[in-house]
Amino acid sequence: MKNLSKRDQKHIWHPLTQHKLHPKMLGIVKAKGALLYDENGREYIDGISSWYTSVYGHCNAYILDRVYRQMQQLDQVVFSGFTHEPAVLLSEELIQLLPYNQEKLFFSDNGSTATEIGIKMALQYHFNRGEKRSILLAFEDGFHGDTFGAMSVSGLSVYNGPFEDFFIEVERIPVPTEDNIETLLAQLKERLKQKNIAGFIYEPLVQGAAAMQMHNAQGLCRILRLLKLNGVITIADEVMTGFGKTGTFFASDQLTVKPDIICLSKALTAGMVPMAITSCTQRVYDAFYSDEIAKGLFHGHTYTANPLACTAALAGLELLQSAEMQANIRRISKSHSVFDKKIKNHPKVARTRQCGIIYALDLVVEMERYGNLRDRLFDHFMDHGVFLRPLGNTIYILAPYITSDEQLGRIYSAIESALELVG
Ligand SMILES: *Cc1c(COP(=O)(O)O)cnc(C)c1O
Repeated sequence: MKNLSKRDQKHIWHPLTQHKLHPKMLGIVKAKGALLYDENGREYIDGISSWYTSVYGHCNAYILDRVYRQMQQLDQVVFSGFTHEPAVLLSEELIQLLPYNQEKLFFSDNGSTATEIGIKMALQYHFNRGEKRSILLAFEDGFHGDTFGAMSVSGLSVYNGPFEDFFIEVERIPVPTEDNIETLLAQLKERLKQKNIAGFIYEPLVQGAAAMQMHNAQGLCRILRLLKLNGVITIADEVMTGFGKTGTFFASDQLTVKPDIICLSKALTAGMVPMAITSCTQRVYDAFYSDEIAKGLFHGHTYTANPLACTAALAGLELLQSAEMQANIRRISKSHSVFDKKIKNHPKVARTRQCGIIYALDLVVEMERYGNLRDRLFDHFMDHGVFLRPLGNTIYILAPYITSDEQLGRIYSAIESALELVG
């Protein structure tokens, strides 16, 4: 007896779901490589890598083997007062890959806590130094997670109404464009005369939840440089962009100005088990290093640096650095640009954009984020064996790096036929 969809409805409350309008969930029984299998025996190409996590493919044999062996050695241990080899090895490996100024890693278990910790680090950094800075700066339409600090800095707040009165204080700036950058910098310069901004959090180059909106690296660098000169802690939220998706290990690799803090999760553990890391520079760390206990960062989660998660992350990093995976990333980027040439002038397509293996196109129609056409597009893709989640009028692809050319072709043709649905 499976019948998962029906049994699910009895006790389960799903994320980001209005159950009255969307009561039915699809039972997934298996995943392998780029494919998901449902309980009726149908298969779907995972066109968004299960929310940007399973980039090396589902149930990857190499990662599975490593995690299985770790499971038999050390499953879980308190990370306060104890340490273990998977965490130490991961720290040594990850610090090599992160931008050169990153020195310390703080572990947690999801993207929201990674940014929450980044925010707390920035606020306490100034507090410990005796400076009164309590305001955060963020991009309009940024997304940083669903806990209170993360929600506060997220600009996509249509559904945050019940909580807005409890948010921390945040000021927003637009993403830089060639047209607005000079005005933006001038306004910021003026604003920074008041020394009360603690930190600036941003998704570098690609704003994921804002439907893969992309901005230019040069403008962002100029903003970061100005903020750093004025003592503002810069926090790169690379929860989505990290681990190869933008064509480099991290999006911050494409910027000359490096952040003080970096938030990582999602593909960090290759979609196998949850984990997150907030990394920072020696300068940030030193503001907490003191004879006074209270100057420490008193934040901790029970599953901090879980050995299985650290092992999955280590195995994932090895795969990411392999010549084979790097070739896959280049292959997919190239394939998307070929598809782009073909589709960008289609009368139903308003504009397209690409960064590494992330590809997005906007339809000419305006639509609600969770509206009717969105549902029809979603169903169309599923009928064609492709799992894509349109965001508003944007259709985007963020497929696993191991997606084959044939599978990419199936995603492209499902998108082409979906354009016929657009009125
Ligand atoms: C998904 C995401 C988060 C939140 O991560 P969760 O693991 O879902 O809490 C934060 N920031 C960005 C940029 C994300 O894409």
